Parts: sequence; C-alpha cells; structure tokens
Amino acid sequence: MVLIAPHSLQHMLFASKLLLGLTQAAVGHVAPAAIVSRQLEQHLQQAGVSSSCLVASHVQHDSQRDQYSAKQQAQPQQPQQHQQQQQKDRHLLPGKACPNKPPAEACRQPLSFLRNARGQQQQQQQQQQQHWQRQHPWRQQTHAWHPWQQQQQQQQQQQQQQQQQRRGLHLAPPFLVEDYVPAAVTTYRLGRMPAKLKAAEKELANCKACPRDCGVDRLAGQLGMCGVGRKLLVSTVAPHFAEESPLQGWNGSGTVFFSMCNLRCVFCQNWDISQKRAGFELSGAELADWMMKLQDFGNCHNINFVTPEHVAPQLVEAIAAAVEKGLNIPIIYNTSAYDGLPSLALMDGLVDIYMPDFKFFTAESGQRYAKARDYAEVAKAAIKEMHRQVGDLVFSPDGLAKRGLLLRHLVMPGLVDEGKAILDWVVMELGRDTYVHIMEQYSPRHLVGSGEQRSRQGWDSYEDINRPVSSDEVQQLRQYARSIGLWRFEEAPRYEAGEMAG
Ligand code: SF4
Repeated sequence: MVLIAPHSLQHMLFASKLLLGLTQAAVGHVAPAAIVSRQLEQHLQQAGVSSSCLVASHVQHDSQRDQYSAKQQAQPQQPQQHQQQQQKDRHLLPGKACPNKPPAEACRQPLSFLRNARGQQQQQQQQQQQHWQRQHPWRQQTHAWHPWQQQQQQQQQQQQQQQQQRRGLHLAPPFLVEDYVPAAVTTYRLGRMPAKLKAAEKELANCKACPRDCGVDRLAGQLGMCGVGRKLLVSTVAPHFAEESPLQGWNGSGTVFFSMCNLRCVFCQNWDISQKRAGFELSGAELADWMMKLQDFGNCHNINFVTPEHVAPQLVEAIAAAVEKGLNIPIIYNTSAYDGLPSLALMDGLVDIYMPDFKFFTAESGQRYAKARDYAEVAKAAIKEMHRQVGDLVFSPDGLAKRGLLLRHLVMPGLVDEGKAILDWVVMELGRDTYVHIMEQYSPRHLVGSGEQRSRQGWDSYEDINRPVSSDEVQQLRQYARSIGLWRFEEAPRYEAGEMAG
C-alpha cells in the first residue's frame, strides 16, 4: 500500500485517482494497471510529490502488471471469440488461378485490410457473392443435390399438391378476395353518383329501361307494359334463406321483391307478385331506409333485388341514398336476364353480383313460355355485359360471394336440349370458370294446367310442361355441364354415410 500525504487539493485529487487505479487493478477490473500508475507518477512528480513515496508504488504496480500478463497468457481465448476474430480477419475474395482446383479453399484469401466500415463490408460481400456465382455456376447446381436441398424440394412439391387439392373447395386463389369494398361505395367515393342519378332520371322520362321499349314518361306517371310508374312497387323486404349458399350465408340474403315484371312467364311460381299490382309504393329514399334495416338489424350479407329489370332507374336513387347512409354490403341484381343494355349501363359500378336466370335458348320457347320472342338474344347480350362488368364469381375467405356473375338455369320439362345449348354458350362466351346453378325446383304453376286463351292457338293449357322436372333430366344436364368443362357449381352439400349422426 502507498501512503501519500495530501498537501493540497490537487494532491488529494491525484491521490484519489491513484487509489482508484490501484483498487481496480487489484480486483482485476482494469487490465493495464501499470499504465494507470505511470500516468499518476508523472502527475504526482509534476505536483511535487517526493519520489520516495513512489518507489513502493512502482514495485506494487510492476508486480501487478506481471501477474496480469501471466494470467492473460494462462487463459486462452474462448473458441467462439477466437472464431469471431478469425472471421473478422478473413474476407473471401475470388481467386484467379482456381478453375481446376476445388473452389472451397482456393478462392479464400485472408484480407485483413478489408476491416472497414460495416456498410462497405456488406457491399464487398455482395460483390464477392455475385462474382462467385458467375465463376462457379456448376457449384450451385451441385448444391441442388445435397440432402437438405432435396428435402426442401419435396416440401415445396407437397405444398403445391395441397394447393391443387384445395381447388376442389372452390377457393382457388383467383376466386378469393381478402378485403372487398362494394362497387357502389367505390362509385360514391369517386364522386360518380350525381352523373348516375342524372342518367337515371333521363331514362325514366322516356322509358327504354327494358327491352320492351315502351317510351313512356314515367316521371309524369305514365305506365308502360310493366305497369310501374315513378315510384317503386315493392312486395316483400326480408332476410331470405332459400338463395344460393354463398349468398344467404348464415344471416340470410337481404331480399327486396319487386312487384310486376316485364316477362309473362306462364309457369311463374311468383305470379301473384310478378303479374299483379301487389305491394306498396316506395321512393328511392324510402327503399334506402329498408336496405339499411336489412344491413343493420337483419345483419344480412347482401342486398338482393329480385326482378329489378323494370325499376333499374329508381334503384340508382335508392342505392345512392343508402350508400350515403352507410350501406356497406354487396348488391345483387337477381334477374330473369331480360334486361336492357341502358339499364345495365346504369348499374355498372353499383351492382356487385349479377344473378341472371338464362331460361330458353330458342325464340319459339321465349315466345311460347314468356311472351318474349327476342328473349334468348336479349339474354345473351345482357349476360355478356354483366360478365364484362363484374367477371367470374369470387368469394371472401369465409365463403360468402362478393363479386361476379352467378348464372342460373331452371331445368324445364322436355327442354333439356335447350339447357345443353345454354351451357355450350356459357362455355364459349363466358368461359369454364363461370359459376353455374342448375336448378331443379320447377313445378307447374300459374297458367300451366289451367290454361289461357291465345289469339292464334285458341285455348292452351301448356300440357307439354305440365309436370315436375324429372331427376333424370336434371342429372343429364349436370353431367353434360361437367363433360364440357364447367366445374364451379352451386350444389347442396354432400355428406358421407354417418356424418350427420355426429
Ligand atoms: S321498364 Fe316497363 S315501362 Fe319501361 S320499357 Fe320496360 S316494360 Fe316498358
């Protein structure tokens, strides 16, 4: 121990430094205790401390330094530290004279001068890697045969097979949407609603909203063939649980059934709505309130306009008002496919899902069963326009339909050939990815069986379609659809034997 008499404040300071240095050195916290002590000696000599006082400290410091050095030599570096140091000192650069030698070692040269800033090192390593890859492409190929590489390839193949198996669930990636904003909301945000409303009003002033082309002024209360004037005529507003599964989901589809129709189907199962003035009149704003109730209180997954062909202009008003109130669910246009192109132009950017029922393929059937000789031609043009607007049907991850075309075809008794012609047309014009619902619920209703007086044929009771459709006819059409490549169908869920018991 060294004793230093503190003659002054400066001496006290130096003394405290000395004691601190010696203490740290003694406990081993500071390695070069000798360096500390020599600096203090100089300071103390400058401050006038007698050299006799420093002798002991010299001896003490020197002995500590020797002990520290011996200790350091006796303790080898930890292997990990050693490796890290080696890695710092070694930098890989491609060698020039190595084409015939194993590249692993021939191209490794220690370059300690590359111990620069971190960014510079990374840049150089990237250059080395690129050069290495250019010089030794065969080495990378060789790596592909390493066991771990083969294992990785097998895992990738298994993942691809699993993805291909998922296609059977109708959830292939092209038909899946994560976050979907309804078309009408987008149109509203883009400021296109005023132009839509203006076009809709113009349409009502000289009505050619549907292919009947009446040309009446519905703004002034004139009625055309459909019998609906300025206001909407609504039969029912309710959540509906008899629609296609991706539409009804678990809370139901928010249906709005419109009274009257521009077709006169003799077999119509809703003839008491479609052919009679039943229901209540609503303005567009009033219907918007009902739509909000379907969304907010019914928790419906969508708004489903049933038979809307003759009220398309008024629907623009209703949709615009509803979106302004906060409507944020898809809108379905559930139609007989006897739609005018001007009305579909109004619906462009407002409707998310078109659901046309393509009924007949010949002019004779259109005239006989729906009183519309041009039905098939109009339906073809309309469905193509619908598909152009929204494309194939897509789903959210929970299985609800969000956008696209869902094509229906009601199988009619004795008209399987027309059904096949319709499916052929779908494949040719829309593609095999079209989502198709081949419906089997036909039953003779309305005028079928009872009959009506026709101007040329006299009394006609439509005996050719006066029976339910057979299961054989339905199966024929479904098998044919698969045989021509259609693969996305609306079908009832199948259960394995005993599955329902659990
Ligand atoms: S919507 Fe009605 S009034 Fe207008 S063209 Fe069709 S049938 Fe005639």
